[in-house]
Amino acid sequence: MADAFENILGQPQVREFLRTSVANGRVTHAYLFTGPAGSNKTMAAYALAQALLCPKGPRGPRGGQCGACDTCGRVMRKKHPDVRYFAPEGAGGYLVDQIRDIAADTALAPIQADKKIYILDRVDLLGVQAANAFLKTLEEPPSDVVLILLGRTRESVLPTIVSRCQVVPFRHIPASEAAGILAQNTGASLEKARIAIEACDGSITRGIEFLKSNERLAFRARVLEALALLRNADDWDLLGQASELVVLAKAPLDVVRAAQEEELAENADFLAKSAMRQIEARNKRQLTAKSFESLRQLTAIIRSWLRDVLAVCAETPELVINVDARGAIEDAARATDEARVAAALAAVRRCDEAISYNVSPETCIDALLFETKDALYRPRPHAADARMR
Ligand SMILES: [Zn+2]
Repeated sequence: MADAFENILGQPQVREFLRTSVANGRVTHAYLFTGPAGSNKTMAAYALAQALLCPKGPRGPRGGQCGACDTCGRVMRKKHPDVRYFAPEGAGGYLVDQIRDIAADTALAPIQADKKIYILDRVDLLGVQAANAFLKTLEEPPSDVVLILLGRTRESVLPTIVSRCQVVPFRHIPASEAAGILAQNTGASLEKARIAIEACDGSITRGIEFLKSNERLAFRARVLEALALLRNADDWDLLGQASELVVLAKAPLDVVRAAQEEELAENADFLAKSAMRQIEARNKRQLTAKSFESLRQLTAIIRSWLRDVLAVCAETPELVINVDARGAIEDAARATDEARVAAALAAVRRCDEAISYNVSPETCIDALLFETKDALYRPRPHAADARMR
C-alpha cells in the first residue's frame, strides 16, 4: 500500500527526504518548508504529521504509516486534535499575542496521540517581535512537539527562524507539469486538468478538489458565461452578474461550516471549555480563509479567460486553456487588442489586492466587472482625435 508521502505530488526529493528521516528515526523538532504557493507544502506537512502520529509507529513497515487507521484518517481529513494548523491572524502577519498563545499551547499534553504537530503557515509573515516571542519554543520545544513552519522562500523568513529549523526546499511546479500530475491522479483529461490548475492558481491539491466538485465546475461555467455576456451588458446587468457571482463564490462556506459543526459535536465530550473556545476561534479563521480562497478562484478564472483572449489577439490560439469557451474568447479578441487586455489583467490584479485588504467582496467584484468591460470594450477615441493629444 502507498504511504502518506505518496501524496506529496510533484516533489520527489522532498518525499524521499521525509520518508527516509521518519524511517531512520531522524525526525527533528522544527522544520521549515520553503516553496512558492502551489508547491504542496501543506500537503507534505500533513503527510509528515500522519507518519509521526500513526500508532503503528515511525519505524514500522514502510516508515510506519498505514494510511488506513483512525488516526491516519483524522490527520488527512485535518480533524486530528493534536495536529494544529495556524495562519497569520493580523492583516499584515502574525500577531505577537497569537504567537504567545501558540507557544503556551505547546506546553499542554497531547489530546489523543503521543505527539503534537504544529503547522504554522506563511512564516514569511512572522515579524521580528512575533518571531522573538517564538524563539525559545522553536529552539527547545517540549519533547512531544514537532513544529512545521511553511514559508514562500528561505530569504523571506527571518534568519533567527531559519537558523533554528531544518530547511526543506520545495520546487516550483510548472503549470504544464502540475496539469499532467493532476490528470494522472484524477483520471481527468489533460485539457480539464489544465483548466483546473489555472482556476486554482497552480495548486494541485485544490485542483483535485475542484475537479471533484460539481458545484465548483458549475461556478466556473457561470463565470465564463458572465464574461461572454460582458460586452453587451448594461450597468444593471453587470450589477446583477456581480452579486450572483459573489453569492456563488461564498457557497463553499456552507460546506465548511457544516463540517465544523460536526467536528465540534464529535469532540464536545472530551474537550475542555477552553479548548472548545480555541476550536471555535480557529473555525472562524478557517471560514475567513475559505472565503478568500473562493474569491481568489473567481479572479483566477477571469484572469485565465483574459490570458486566453490575449493569446488569440497575439495570434497564438493554440495556447488557449479554456477550450470549452473558445467561441466567446475569439469574439472578445476580435473586439479588443493586446494593450486593452493587459489593462483588464491589471484590473484583476487590483481586485486581488482589494480582496486581501478586506474590501467587501461585493464592492471588489462590482468594480472588477465594470473595469474589465471598460478596459476591453470602451469605444476608442477616433484615430484623428488620438493624434491631436
Ligand atoms: Zn495509521
